[in-house]
Amino acid sequence: MSAPARIDLHAHSTASDGTLSPAALVRAAADAGLDVVAITDHDTTAGWDAAVRALPPGLTLVRGAEISCRWYGVEPAIPLHLLAYLFDPTEPELVAELARVRLAREVRGERIVELLRADGVEVSWPEILTGAAGGTVGRPHIAQALIRAGLVATTTEAFGPEWLGERYRLPKEDIDVFRAVALVRAAGGVPVFAHPKASRRGRIVPDELIVELAAAGLAGLEADHDDHSPVERAHVRGLAAELELLVTGSSDFHGTHKTVQLGAHTTDPEAYERIVAAATGVTPVASG
Ligand code: AMP
Ligand code: FE
Ligand code: FE
Ligand code: ZN
Repeated sequence: MSAPARIDLHAHSTASDGTLSPAALVRAAADAGLDVVAITDHDTTAGWDAAVRALPPGLTLVRGAEISCRWYGVEPAIPLHLLAYLFDPTEPELVAELARVRLAREVRGERIVELLRADGVEVSWPEILTGAAGGTVGRPHIAQALIRAGLVATTTEAFGPEWLGERYRLPKEDIDVFRAVALVRAAGGVPVFAHPKASRRGRIVPDELIVELAAAGLAGLEADHDDHSPVERAHVRGLAAELELLVTGSSDFHGTHKTVQLGAHTTDPEAYERIVAAATGVTPVASG
């Protein structure tokens, strides 16, 4: 009998804030012994084609994205991340919303840089954009500039309260989470709430919202994630069972921008099969 498939459904490339190119990401996934990997860059599908072209034998690629959302049910609104799998990347409304969010990220990034510069911190927006190399720009790219300037030693430190975690943190214009769920479904995709109870990342949404999202078309919850404590993982599993949502586990690999490795957390084949069965946008790709 063969070993159970190793499935990691959340990884970033240089198409957003990861440090491996899409091609290097799929090669690294194969080297890590994965059978299935999902490319889920922030608010973009730009890495999909290069990942498909570089797909090593034996590895299956799930094409996806991690969509920047916000829940407007409280003031101030709470940001959250929605993983979207196997959606049609040409669906016009979704394409337009993703483009709008990417632009909003640039507006916010430039404002953060202005705040830093006003305090005498010598970081340059054009240099940060160069660092992002055409990928979706995010705070990790600003963190790199702070490291280059010798102001902090690590990305983790750059996300501390003195820097991008609080003092220089600004909101961006995200997608209303209910609209995002509807758009992903309309594009034939399968929406899964990323790290829904990761309290160490900031404010988290109440269970009541997850109940409402499940009724609105949410398909699953990511439970096994580095940013979830054991108690949080168990809570997410319980909630998923109650709501008949599927449960995933994933690394949320970002290359050297984070310490977590590919395959650090994985998804059960049964949950993976549910995702594939529910999708009508695009199919998983296996190199042939
Ligand atoms: P942004 O999407 O621009 O708001 O930046 C959020 C991204 O920063 C997340 O997707 C992570 O990749 C990264 N990030 C958030 N918090 C941390 C942290 N404490 N340490 C390292 N990276 C982080
Ligand atoms: Fe990220
Ligand atoms: Fe995320
Ligand atoms: Zn992620």
